Amino acid sequence: MADLPAKANGFIDWYLAVVEAANLTDKRYGVKGMNVWTPYGFLARRALDAVMVREIEATGSHPVEFPALIPQTEFQKEAEHIKGFTTQVYWVTRGGATELDVPLVLRPTSETAMYPIFHLWIRSHRDLPLNVYQIVNTFRYETKTTRPFLRVREIHFFEEHTCQSGDDQATARVASNLGAFRRMAEALAVPYVALRRPDWDKFPGAFYSIALDIPVGEARTLQIGTIHHYRENFSRPYEIEYETPDGGKAFVHQTTFGLSERLLGAVVAVHGDDRGAVFPPSVAPYQVVIVPISGKGGNLPAQFAERLGKRLRDRGLRVHVDTSEDRPGAKYYRWEIAGVPLRLEIGPREAEAGTATAVDRLGHRSVIGPADLETEVERTLEGFRGALFEKALSAFRGAFEVATHLDQLRDSTKVRVLAWCGQEACGHQIEKAIDGALLGLPEEELPIPLGDPGPCIGCSSTAGTRWALASRPL
Ligand code: ZN
Repeated sequence: MADLPAKANGFIDWYLAVVEAANLTDKRYGVKGMNVWTPYGFLARRALDAVMVREIEATGSHPVEFPALIPQTEFQKEAEHIKGFTTQVYWVTRGGATELDVPLVLRPTSETAMYPIFHLWIRSHRDLPLNVYQIVNTFRYETKTTRPFLRVREIHFFEEHTCQSGDDQATARVASNLGAFRRMAEALAVPYVALRRPDWDKFPGAFYSIALDIPVGEARTLQIGTIHHYRENFSRPYEIEYETPDGGKAFVHQTTFGLSERLLGAVVAVHGDDRGAVFPPSVAPYQVVIVPISGKGGNLPAQFAERLGKRLRDRGLRVHVDTSEDRPGAKYYRWEIAGVPLRLEIGPREAEAGTATAVDRLGHRSVIGPADLETEVERTLEGFRGALFEKALSAFRGAFEVATHLDQLRDSTKVRVLAWCGQEACGHQIEKAIDGALLGLPEEELPIPLGDPGPCIGCSSTAGTRWALASRPL
């Protein structure tokens, strides 16, 4: 197997090589940007789905599934939304040999599929809040270079859509989504910033958009999720109205929360190293790989490995026992590239004693057992997640840099933090200077110590300046 390129020598080449070497996806399918989930990659995807489901359902959201095809007539009801998606949608115009009376859009996102039905579901204030989510594939005709997990045309997509009785309730839902995402990100051990996007960069049809961004590669950022407040922008055209307690009529306020397989790309990007992928236990396809080393021990190590594998599976862990013919060194190498959090080596001595030598993906080695091996494995995995998060946090804290002049924006290896007056003209000046994007205003405290923002980097005004972030999005 060829060596991987070094991460420090070029992020994207390294990323593509790791995804390939770890066998997470097969990009040889005959449609560009539509990749095949391999058995190994699919396990990661299923585990990611489970994290999202657990956290969103804990906040009172319910699963639904809407059809993938949306009639053009519904798709066109919200003007900004259509404008934003026109160049990205796939159309279905024929059924068999018959031209369809109403062409169908293959969902790029599901507002326009769900909202005509929300109109039917919601009658009274007693029907609110409506908090529903689905995990489905969506389709967008990407014109930029596609990359596995990061930019694809068929997207494994999580979308929550909610209807609230008013602005305050919708704002509270946004806060609840931010809390749910914080817990998901902790499970993935991925630090991030939540930023309110500038008005010119919000989701088509939104009142405001909060994006969840991470620093990646060479001074770039990756948007890994979004939360939008729509106010009445969709409920008016889709007539999602309810009877208020005093007998009046009101339009619902709506929010959405979107995540995707990009989170898996983020996990690879953030934790991976020059030896391959590194998965946190929450989304690792296999959390534990057991390698029996037979030597003079005959069948004992293999037998103990199988028994231990079963015991760990009974505890709900994802475990693979590698009984292939390869030498132990080749097995270690393979599972290291694949990013398995914990390897248990079992030689004749371990098999006899009922112990295992545990080596985590960061290289920490310990002997576990013989008493309560299962609990020790779980504890070791949780310790590994903590160590992974600490490592990621330390890199994250070092990924930001304050810039005070426009000419400092272009050449830096970090995400720029700068003072901005909030005016669009200055925002565009900043974007031109960095040849990238003004990412927006932090919703939560930034990971670096910051004082007063001082004068705007664009116009030198001190009136109403706030700290803002800018970078070249990946
Ligand atoms: Zn300014």
